[in-house]
Amino acid sequence: MSSRICSVSIDMDTLACYAQIHGLAPSSSAGPVPLGSPPDPIYTHALPRFLAMFDEYNIRATLFVIGKDAEHPVHAEILRDAAARGHELANHSYNHLYRLTRLSSSGIAAEISRGADVIEPLLSEGKKVVGFRCPGYNITPEVLKSLRAQGYLYDSSIFPCPLYYLAKATVIGWLALRRRPSLSIVGSPQVLLSPNHPYQPGFDPHRPAPSKRPEGLPLASRDIWELPMTVLPGIRLPFIGTSVLMYPQWMLSAVTRGLTQTQPFLNFELHGIDMMDPNDPGTQQLRPHQPDLRVSLKEKEQRFHNVFQQIAKTHRFCTLQDAVTTFATQDGGSYRLRSVES
Ligand SMILES: [Zn+2]
Repeated sequence: MSSRICSVSIDMDTLACYAQIHGLAPSSSAGPVPLGSPPDPIYTHALPRFLAMFDEYNIRATLFVIGKDAEHPVHAEILRDAAARGHELANHSYNHLYRLTRLSSSGIAAEISRGADVIEPLLSEGKKVVGFRCPGYNITPEVLKSLRAQGYLYDSSIFPCPLYYLAKATVIGWLALRRRPSLSIVGSPQVLLSPNHPYQPGFDPHRPAPSKRPEGLPLASRDIWELPMTVLPGIRLPFIGTSVLMYPQWMLSAVTRGLTQTQPFLNFELHGIDMMDPNDPGTQQLRPHQPDLRVSLKEKEQRFHNVFQQIAKTHRFCTLQDAVTTFATQDGGSYRLRSVES
């Protein structure tokens, strides 16, 4: 069996999150989802399509769930079923505040613990939530500190991609000029220098801990891992669901080939919205702002099939939690970028 592994994750951001990014939603959207509100199409339409496709490739994925959405009874049932089928449920905070990193330390801790409190009852008896991803890919030392204190095994918030960073800064700046401020924030440029492979951070989440670990950090064997989203080495082109849908076909094949041939670990991040059809309910308002929402479901499915087929030739799929267990037990607890056997 291949020693190379690929973890597929889905950020379960609802359509309301995208309305916030594009400045189309009110800023007071924190707090529980109102009672009696309809289930979100990301849960009822997109997720079942992804899970059906995953079954074909024997993929057990990691779902990053927003706590308040998991309180909705229909969403909760869908998530419980996914967990029973072997998928991992991880924490994407309670409110999915794009400004999470600007809260007080107690506010940050509460966003994390409240998310887990809602998600854990959906897991089989005794299982814990062990993974976290910040909203909007922004993480700070304060968030990392909270995750350590709450016993997390890994964080996967870092997306070390200059192209994405530039695009996000441009959109946020443009919306501010048009007096339609986005609720998203640009975040620290340190992310651009973060490693493109799993590591155990020091106090700064963007850097591996020095080999002589600073005082105050737990032993490496017990400490948290950072699992950045995979980018193409060198020019750091993104390899996430949006790129699968937006790259010209030749480029998608070249990037996928480049990654599968060189990377022992792929952290492949998707969003629920990647599997929405332009005619699905709730998408109309967002379509002018989200080019990926104008791609037909048929085309999307075809592209994802091609990518999964290509990855399956060289990599074994596993959840992010299982990937961390693998890193923690190999090579005496350090992840090493092995040369890939031909
Ligand atoms: Zn998100």
